[in-house]
Amino acid sequence: MTNKDIHFSKLLMDVYASPTATLKYPNISNWDFSPFGLTEQDLIHSVYLVFDQVLKLPELYHISITQAQLYDFIIDLASVYHNQNPYHNFAHAVDVLQCLFYMLCELGVLPFTNKFLQKSKPQSLLRPKDVFALLIAAIGHDAAHPGINSSNPLATLYNDKSVLESLHAMTLFQLLNKHGIDRLVGDSKSEAYKVVSSILATDMSLHNDYVSKIKEQANRFNNTNSHLDEQDERNLLCSALIKCADISNVARPFHWGTKWAELLVQEFISQGDLEKQMGLPVLPMNDRTKVVLEDSQINFIKFVALDLFQNVANVLNEIEFAADQMKKNLRRWESRKKNIEYEQEEFDIVSNSSTTHMIMVETGIKRSSSSLDLQHHDVKRRPSIEKYPVNNTDDRDAPVYCQCSIQ
Ligand code: AMP
Ligand code: MG
Ligand code: ZN
Repeated sequence: MTNKDIHFSKLLMDVYASPTATLKYPNISNWDFSPFGLTEQDLIHSVYLVFDQVLKLPELYHISITQAQLYDFIIDLASVYHNQNPYHNFAHAVDVLQCLFYMLCELGVLPFTNKFLQKSKPQSLLRPKDVFALLIAAIGHDAAHPGINSSNPLATLYNDKSVLESLHAMTLFQLLNKHGIDRLVGDSKSEAYKVVSSILATDMSLHNDYVSKIKEQANRFNNTNSHLDEQDERNLLCSALIKCADISNVARPFHWGTKWAELLVQEFISQGDLEKQMGLPVLPMNDRTKVVLEDSQINFIKFVALDLFQNVANVLNEIEFAADQMKKNLRRWESRKKNIEYEQEEFDIVSNSSTTHMIMVETGIKRSSSSLDLQHHDVKRRPSIEKYPVNNTDDRDAPVYCQCSIQ
């Protein structure tokens, strides 16, 4: 480090690591955590606190990262996230990191070393260096995300799998290298591999393959004694955990889940608008005239997220709490949908009568109960029946539950 660097780091430390900065950090040990309303400084500090805890593990004493070095790295990483993206921004990365931290604590892997864990538990395979690699992967897993999903022309052009995820991994490693942290991630190539393979596991087009692999893993741990190589079981546990964390918004308390859903839909419809302008075909879920928030969440939970969480909970039983919360959220979305259907019926009946105008105003108010202003995005909140007619043979209108086109 040059004198100039040391001076700069000291300045950063004064801003971020002062005793008052610690006072306002959000509760990173709470499932009710959300990064909403936090400043960039608070987000950076939250990330710092997670890594600081992990680096206190005696097994990681050899990772000699100074506080200033850690801060510099996090600040740089935060800056490569595009904060104009409604969803794929640094706050999402912090949310995923905190989720992993929380789950690792529930699993008993953190904050202590796993020497207190029963050897029979699958999570006892996770060593502190795996945990460190996993958390690095979490905070970098969407680095430089352009706000456009994997069905974009870029992916088609490369005709390749995991284009975005490769970009995230590459961006992260450039920064780890710049800050001299890459060689600290692990004493061998296998830890670097773990970071990359965990990021690649977040490619949702591989979702069903992972769910099948996790199902087989549960079977191995619960019913048979035949295990894969320890390293393979360990890597699969890491993939399962980061995948859960990446879509954990649907397992958070409902008030945060709705906010994430609205932000994601905003990003999707911005993409849809762009595709329309470019004369490209638009998926219904990206089309502001077709997307229904409630349906998108009901379908995503039912057909994508719940399956993952339940299978992961069959391996790592302590994760059950998240699957339970997700089921509660599903019921909330379903009842919201019923209310809307009811409102729609009321609206249809009354709009044929002479009092149309008054009732329109009233239902309009009822429908705008959302915490986030989506009005100018014009997201319709209609029931799915209308949107996806039964026996629809037109592929373009078939329901798509996720940007990754897993069906
Ligand atoms: P990532 O883009 O890396 O965050 O991968 C997760 C993907 O899962 C997102 O891009 C979405 O396609 C999908 N996803 C996550 N949360 C939701 C949600 N609440 N509703 C619908 N799709 C979701
Ligand atoms: Mg991603
Ligand atoms: Zn993500």
